[in-house]
Amino acid sequence: MQHADYVPLHVHTEYSLLDGAIKIKELIETATAYRMPAVAITDHGNIFGAVKFYSAAIKAGIKPIIGCEVYVAPDGRLNRKSSSSGENAFHLILLARNMDGYRNLVTLVSKAYLEGFYYKPRIDADLLSQYSGGLIALSSCLHGEIPYYLSQGMIDEAREVALRYKNILGPENFYLEIQDNGIEVQYEINKKLQELSKELHIGLVATNDCHYLKKEDSRAHDILLCIQTGKTINARERLRFETDQLYFKSPEEMKAIQ
Ligand SMILES: [Zn+2]
Ligand SMILES: [Zn+2]
Repeated sequence: MQHADYVPLHVHTEYSLLDGAIKIKELIETATAYRMPAVAITDHGNIFGAVKFYSAAIKAGIKPIIGCEVYVAPDGRLNRKSSSSGENAFHLILLARNMDGYRNLVTLVSKAYLEGFYYKPRIDADLLSQYSGGLIALSSCLHGEIPYYLSQGMIDEAREVALRYKNILGPENFYLEIQDNGIEVQYEINKKLQELSKELHIGLVATNDCHYLKKEDSRAHDILLCIQTGKTINARERLRFETDQLYFKSPEEMKAIQ
């Protein structure tokens, strides 16, 4: 049986507490149906699902990639004041490439809770430099540091951060991440990420930021977000995703997106 040539590298399971609706068993079943050779999990700030995910994937003959969408404190993990930009926790995808990377991921996530907790468990560039071995990083969604600066027209800052991560992880282990979830601003950011990729010789990777398994689960996920934020579905001012495209897409669906 031939494998599909697409591997999802940005997946939130139910361990992205109240922000992920994908059950690990169903994730592996779907990845098997799509003939994916490997699949990653990247929950928000934790790797609580790692053991369950690893065992289920191995059993199904799928290569498990243990990762995490960590929070990065822009002014250092020990700083518990609001940063000047108002952003206290940027997103960054970390993926373990090997056992060394897994151990470092465990350390980073633990220290994020023990040393960097401010609303969210946070690491910083300094900590990442100490524990970067065996890890691959992706620049993450619109809440990533680089996309954020690009959206603010702060190109120099975006460039500086991209070079910092390229330096910390090594040129082979840092990628700019493009996503197309039908969110208007993404098109502009993707263009800028592609320019940055060419200019700085940093690879590009396409992901889908999966938060639920099927497209029709988007409403259930919206309700989950309401539970997380203590709002009702009808509340006007509340956190909501502007798209129903954050589902676990098939290789064919991913390839069809241009
Ligand atoms: Zn994110
Ligand atoms: Zn995400």
